[in-house]
Amino acid sequence: MTIEPLQLDCSFCGKSQDMVNKLIASDNVRICNECVESCSELLMGDASDNSSQEPDQNWLDQPLPKPKELVKYLDEYIIGQEEAKKVLSVAVYNHYKRLKHKADKDNSLATDDAIELQKSNILLIGSTGSGKTLLAETLAKILDVPFAVADATSLTESGYVGEDVEGILLRLLQAAELDISEAERGIIYIDEIDKITCKSENPSISRDVSGEGVQQALLKIIEGTIAQVPPQGGRKHPNQECIPVDTSNILFICGGAFVGLEKIISRRSNRKTIGFVSPKKVELHSQPTKDNFLQDLEIDDVVKFGLIPELVGRLPIITTLKPLTEEALLTILTKPRNALVKQYQKLMQMDNVKLEFAPDALQAIAKEAYRRKTGARALRGLIEELMLDIMYELPSRQDINRCLITKEMVDKHSTAELIHYPNYISFQKNVG
Ligand code: ADP
Repeated sequence: MTIEPLQLDCSFCGKSQDMVNKLIASDNVRICNECVESCSELLMGDASDNSSQEPDQNWLDQPLPKPKELVKYLDEYIIGQEEAKKVLSVAVYNHYKRLKHKADKDNSLATDDAIELQKSNILLIGSTGSGKTLLAETLAKILDVPFAVADATSLTESGYVGEDVEGILLRLLQAAELDISEAERGIIYIDEIDKITCKSENPSISRDVSGEGVQQALLKIIEGTIAQVPPQGGRKHPNQECIPVDTSNILFICGGAFVGLEKIISRRSNRKTIGFVSPKKVELHSQPTKDNFLQDLEIDDVVKFGLIPELVGRLPIITTLKPLTEEALLTILTKPRNALVKQYQKLMQMDNVKLEFAPDALQAIAKEAYRRKTGARALRGLIEELMLDIMYELPSRQDINRCLITKEMVDKHSTAELIHYPNYISFQKNVG
């Protein structure tokens, strides 16, 4: 009779010693190297959560986060877009410095009272899903100021069916829990600003008056006014009681993809260069790539695109975001502080399941998302598709403690490999 050597297994995940690199054992308990790593990640996560210095509530009395500090925070959440991060951080820092200056002036602390610092709102140009909203939202979070997002296409000028521009302010008020003075120093992101153009560049389309009307209405609140906000939202009625909100300190960040802007820039640079430079240079100018054409952007181009000059004048800080590469999408899956993979791992951890993605599975997800051309937006949908059956099945299963997503599953839309505890029977069920 032969005696089998005693097989030890990990007391946490149940894997036997020959399935792992190292198994550390004491008298009654054993832990494998993989569980040690998971525990260490957990502890590190807690430590970094504690060390993050969230800004104080009364931040106007505190030193403002400097532009470099803001970029450091942004780096934790947003991949790439270095130029936009820098421009936005400086703009936001100056904006709140201006508010501080104003507050000091009101309290007669400022000596050079004659200097009036003007508000500079921001225009973000970049393709869908490149992080425009995320940038604005993250800045608001860092500064701990109320934040609201509005879609310019849902707005109409007064008298038409749709939402009055004051509705945007109502959302900001709600974000500030109806504290008017809090709301008055918040940030509003207006998306799809490029969809309310006058189309004046296109001779075949007559001037779109309603687009111009909405721009005029937006202009009023962006440049600073005491707006009358209907507490119920929707359209204003003549006898309705409204909440007065001063918009002069609200920072407006407008964003859009501005599809076709490259043609306007290219046409203009051609016009400018012909006759002055060598034909070789003209050729270089006339063929900007998708990535670099915006470097040549001038304010006039945005006006030609169809934004009224007065509105563009109120958005003096213009910055651009680059389309995300496949590599950036891959990084977005795992690196940001609340990366999608981390979020789903957390969800599964709550059911005592360790969720793992094979590296080539992550690559396959990034590749598919890139193919869909909606920037990082596609990532969540893809993972959600992958995880649906698992998230449906696992909460009712006590016998499973690991779940592995492989490339095959991403490619074939099959379900994940569920690993049973403690016998490690793995199975894979094809559903599609
Ligand atoms: P946009 O406003 O440019 O259309 P969003 O900011 O709404 O894009 O991005 C959609 C989602 O994609 C965000 O919630 C975020 O999860 C992700 N995302 C987009 N860009 C980035 C980025 N550069 N870094 C990290 N995540 C990103």
